Amino acid sequence: MNTRKLRIYLADLIHDRHIYNYSVPLNVGYITALLNKRMGKAVETKIFKFPDNLISTMKSLPPDILALSNYDWNVNLNLALTKIGREINPDLFVVMGGPNIRKKPEGIRDYLIHHQCDMHVVNEGEDAFSNIVEYIMGLWPCNIRRLINSSGIKFSNAAYLEKDTQNLMLGKKPDSAHEKNIPFPSPWLAGLLDPFINNVSFPLQPLIETNRNCPYQCHFCVWGDFELNKIRIFDFDTVIEELRYIFKKSEHQFNLTIADANFGILKRDTEIAEEVRRLSDQYKKADRIFIAQAKNSIKRNLEISKILGKRCIPEFAVQTLTPGILEYSGRKNPSNDAIQEYVAGVKNNGHEVMTDILLGLPGETKKQYIDSMKKVIDFGFQRASVADIRLLDGSVMAEEDYRKKFGLESRFRVIPSAYGEYGGIKVIEYEKCVRKTNAMSTEDLLELRLFNANFFLLYYIELGRPMLDFAYKNNLHPIDIIAEVSKKIDENKYPLLSKYIERFTKTANDEWYDSVEEADNYFLQPNNFSKIMKDGFPKLNYEYAAKLLINSDLRNEFLGLIGQAIKEKLPNQDFIVNELVKFCFQRVFSINERSNPINSKKDDMELSFEIANHLTNYIDDYDYINTSSKVDKTVRKGEVRDSFAPISTFNNKIENTDSSIKDLNKNSKIKIKFDVDDKKTEWLNYQIERNGGANNIMLAIQVVLQKNQKAFLRSWKPQ
Ligand code: SF4
Repeated sequence: MNTRKLRIYLADLIHDRHIYNYSVPLNVGYITALLNKRMGKAVETKIFKFPDNLISTMKSLPPDILALSNYDWNVNLNLALTKIGREINPDLFVVMGGPNIRKKPEGIRDYLIHHQCDMHVVNEGEDAFSNIVEYIMGLWPCNIRRLINSSGIKFSNAAYLEKDTQNLMLGKKPDSAHEKNIPFPSPWLAGLLDPFINNVSFPLQPLIETNRNCPYQCHFCVWGDFELNKIRIFDFDTVIEELRYIFKKSEHQFNLTIADANFGILKRDTEIAEEVRRLSDQYKKADRIFIAQAKNSIKRNLEISKILGKRCIPEFAVQTLTPGILEYSGRKNPSNDAIQEYVAGVKNNGHEVMTDILLGLPGETKKQYIDSMKKVIDFGFQRASVADIRLLDGSVMAEEDYRKKFGLESRFRVIPSAYGEYGGIKVIEYEKCVRKTNAMSTEDLLELRLFNANFFLLYYIELGRPMLDFAYKNNLHPIDIIAEVSKKIDENKYPLLSKYIERFTKTANDEWYDSVEEADNYFLQPNNFSKIMKDGFPKLNYEYAAKLLINSDLRNEFLGLIGQAIKEKLPNQDFIVNELVKFCFQRVFSINERSNPINSKKDDMELSFEIANHLTNYIDDYDYINTSSKVDKTVRKGEVRDSFAPISTFNNKIENTDSSIKDLNKNSKIKIKFDVDDKKTEWLNYQIERNGGANNIMLAIQVVLQKNQKAFLRSWKPQ
């Protein structure tokens, strides 16, 4: 009998109506690679990332099975695509996979009752999905939906509801889940990700995994298989080959993410880092390397940060520095002394490390949160990425008993850029975040929103860093300054800024909804939907940053406000602080809202000796990559770049710098010139263009900033 091949489409869909920071579909790539290996040519497989491609292909060649990776940024998109797929082929068998499902059996059952999918793969999907397909192939051609739900079989790592009884059928883990070595073939080396890595219209970043699972099992997280807290590893040689493949294949600059939960947890990770470093130097294509460091391998972390050098500011996620708080979330940080020692070690190597902080952790008060932020600076982290806590289905924190114990209340808001209209269906995604705990009120959380925004602007994207570092050198804590400027400001002195902050605060207050239905009722109205499609739904901090970058009058007021707050606390320093305000203002590019939005102005500025000496810390500090041969040679020996370093390290600054500043005396005036590196300007124009700047410059700025926090800082040097 001439039987048509079983046609399987696998998708890790994204909302692509605005360019955003997304990666190649590595997850479904792994599943497809194993499926192809096990089934060979007996099945037809195809991978998708963009919804319109999937819709048009489903129309011309309808699939028999649609396998969708499901997370909270695409859950409603998956529902829409399922609907469209079933209109084309009512017998379409839909399988979801991913951690976006509660872990307990009643939660899984509830999910299957309320969602359109026929089956959900829980935990690792490769073997689970291949086993299902293998079973179907044994009986193909057939009606798969009917076949599965009346099969009476419990498929490994998969859940469905039995046809007549609606009983939950949930299989055990496959044997491979218990093996230390992960036996799945590489989707990179099979060429499955080639169509995505050089995608022109929507840049996607390369991603690799070298190991799976995480021993910590934090209650807010859904990483890996929590029943198996052992680390499992991919073959070392394959990982190295994958890295070589990515660097060789990429036609564009990229940011490489190593997706492991704890890079550095294994001894071999230093060798992997060496290869990343070697390839980065050889090809000069990686703008940045993103890694999340192991939480306990302090010595190895230091080694890795040294190897990767300036292209990587590793993330050592502490979530809080308030002792005793993280334990409520199921994890324990190393002692604060050990953390401090680690950060100091990284800095002694001439490198940097950043951290992650969560707002609204169970048990943490507003005061403790602010004190913890002070420690972020005191300990010497280069910066902290601060986030609200998402209550993820599948996390312990989302379970009723846990929520009750810590008084967690949550609300919903739109996920920025996760919306669009596909095949005539309007879709919006929402995130559910903690909005109240026993220790922090809703008002506290709202108040901290502006504080966090100011921290983000001044430190995360470094718009005011030289000023606040100067304050810190003079025993004025930057967090006190940030708290101060986050209070109500004088609208006569700062008319543009006070208006902007009013809008910011109103948006921050109004963006929360009690339920998805309530939010949909508002956003799906034609006018509201058209508005977010046109203007975007703001990721507030990034939008604020983009406004400051694009509107020089607003930026002037903002930096003036910071300067004023410092001057009030440091009498007799007015002249110096004014110079710093001016420098911070000029250090960012002016942006035109036309083609080639960035120009090299090559303007100059005069500085006093004291400020020029302070600012030597920021020469060459405008970018992560500096590919000049001089820097390449010295990068491992110890780059001079301090941030929150204690005052004593500033003392020998003049001796340490190779700039001409050291030859001058204290009464000298020093002239500096901006835009000394034309390549930086070219690079930025290219990044803006590649990220959709011609259509929407505000959104493009935000995406570029997400990828490179110092993208908009200009190069400069003393003349
Ligand atoms: S350490 Fe990180 S990856 Fe591991 S469970 Fe905690 S948050 Fe998740």
